[in-house]
Amino acid sequence: MAQHRAACQCGALTVTAAADPEFVVLCNCKACQQRTGAPFGVGAYFAKDAVTVAGAVNTWTRSSDSGRALTNHFCAACGSNLYWTLEMRPGHMGVAVGAFDQPLPEPQRAIWAQEKLDWVTFPDHWPVYDTGSPPE
Ligand SMILES: [Zn+2]
Ligand SMILES: [Zn+2]
Repeated sequence: MAQHRAACQCGALTVTAAADPEFVVLCNCKACQQRTGAPFGVGAYFAKDAVTVAGAVNTWTRSSDSGRALTNHFCAACGSNLYWTLEMRPGHMGVAVGAFDQPLPEPQRAIWAQEKLDWVTFPDHWPVYDTGSPPE
């Protein structure tokens, strides 16, 4: 069975997934730029029931563009935003792709391209959406 492990910068907070991510998405929105300090955020979305979290967290919740809640979870010791949960996808958890011990598959799509930095480009075979993910 697949096993993926992600950890915060200090190692006190870990996420272990017993299954592969159901999708991997790169998001260019301004909130992800501010959240990560990077030009975009990349999240691997796992079924919640496949994931085990260990360690103390702080949380902060904001409203998404659709008005639904998005809660970021931060290591209580080092502040890394290791994972997040979304009211829009109650069965899933997004985990920061850069935090995994082993590389995950490349993103299936890039979203919120209308907020993308000009110098950021993506491979030709990626679907790129101006706003959020299309309905699945
Ligand atoms: Zn930490
Ligand atoms: Zn975003």
